[in-house]
Amino acid sequence: MTERYDVLVIGAGPAGLAAARAAASHGAQVGLVDAQPRAGGQVWRHDVRHGAPRAAREAIAALRGVTLLAQHSIVASDDGALRAETPDGSTLLGYRALVLATGARELLLPFPGWTLPGVSGAGGLQALAKQGWPVNGKRVVIAGSGPLLLAAAATLRAHGAKVLGIHEQASAASVRAFAGQLIHWPARALQAVALRAKLTGVPYCFGSIVRRAHGDGALRMVEIEDAHGTTCVDCDLLGVGYGLVPNVELAQMLGCALDHASVHPRVQVDELLRTSVPSVFAAGEAGGIGGLAVARIEGAIAGHLAAGHQDDAHALMPERERERRFGALLAKHFSPGARVHALAMPDTLICRCEDVPLGALDGFADARDAKLATRCGMGACQGRICGAALAELGRFPRGAGRPPLFPARLATLAGLADLSPSENTEVTP
Ligand SMILES: Cc1cc2nc3c(=O)[nH]c(=O)nc-3n(C[C@H](O)[C@H](O)[C@H](O)COP(=O)(O)OP(=O)(O)OC[C@H]3O[C@@H](n4cnc5c(N)ncnc54)[C@H](O)[C@@H]3O)c2cc1C
Repeated sequence: MTERYDVLVIGAGPAGLAAARAAASHGAQVGLVDAQPRAGGQVWRHDVRHGAPRAAREAIAALRGVTLLAQHSIVASDDGALRAETPDGSTLLGYRALVLATGARELLLPFPGWTLPGVSGAGGLQALAKQGWPVNGKRVVIAGSGPLLLAAAATLRAHGAKVLGIHEQASAASVRAFAGQLIHWPARALQAVALRAKLTGVPYCFGSIVRRAHGDGALRMVEIEDAHGTTCVDCDLLGVGYGLVPNVELAQMLGCALDHASVHPRVQVDELLRTSVPSVFAAGEAGGIGGLAVARIEGAIAGHLAAGHQDDAHALMPERERERRFGALLAKHFSPGARVHALAMPDTLICRCEDVPLGALDGFADARDAKLATRCGMGACQGRICGAALAELGRFPRGAGRPPLFPARLATLAGLADLSPSENTEVTP
């Protein structure tokens, strides 16, 4: 059986919440889908100790006339509808208009020791802490690039972790130039000042990278390199992330064109947030990294348009332009530099699902050839991690994914709505 909606929104982060609200305000029947058990997306992820931020609670409370389909992972498209896997089985979701608000994920770059237990993405570590993973009293190093490092460090500190330092790979001059531009985005400037205040006493080092992680079976120490040389720091946890890459796989599966202007593709949209596929819109970080404000504005624009109300959408467009410029500023000042690209050694694992070292990929110029010969990108993450890393390292662009988008049960792929215990078998794409 297919559940049908006038407007179906995929992703209940800030963009998707705004899209659902805007579409429903015109009386459309709206379905809001997310793989997570709660709405909020990445920035508004529910925190077991501190709850959800006020803006998130307000955005969720404002959903009237919207059917929230939590724990629904879209894994495939099926005859004009989307196949969602749920805890109890699967369902088909039909729509007249579709808004893709699938957000972004962290860019992880390999370095010696990055697969040791205790090492994770900076945003990933933040998410673990919010979900109740115990970090109280742990000595934590945060490294990588971009403002997310500050947000992650602040969350960890609020959960009792001892943050030893934040190591930003961008130079002090680049970060200063970025901070100088924040005058044009006063809300961002205030947010940065508030975060720094929460991190009083935590060193924020520039031009500083984690070169190697050491440990026997678990992280024990990291080697940090800056302009003054190399220092070793004992720690329990390392969170290291090099910014964000858009989640484009669902759009790609639906045939939407991607914009390949930068190393990491984003969903291509026109000024009305229309993708190349009729009646499919994209909003928020799936369409390029820009942060919370742009996600909210674009979500509202896409929701109005998906419900057929262009005038309301047009009113929001100047604001969108301003916030999109902030995304360009982030890319300019925080893109990983050559020192970071040179961290992985030939024996460093690049594909951690299939244990493929970087050296095994020498001589390959194409993701598909590399996959066929080495199994790189063939595991559960389907190249989401290693594919983005290899593109960033200049090896080769990411190959296209294949359905199912995420590991899914056989019963889901067979189109069975309800599960019997014997059908509870999972397959990777
Ligand atoms: C790990 C991480 C932590 C972050 N923390 C912060 C922070 O602390 N502060 C900050 O300012 N910014 C943070 N950001 C940046 C953040 O991505 C944006 O500012 C903002 O959340 C973007 O909103 P969005 O609605 O575009 O996407 P998101 O908030 O990423 O929401 C996308 C949603 O789509 C859902 N989804 C995707 N694909 C599917 C599918 N196939 N089926 C079902 N559901 C799907 C996801 O579960 C997710 O909930 C973080 C980003 C990441 C990756």
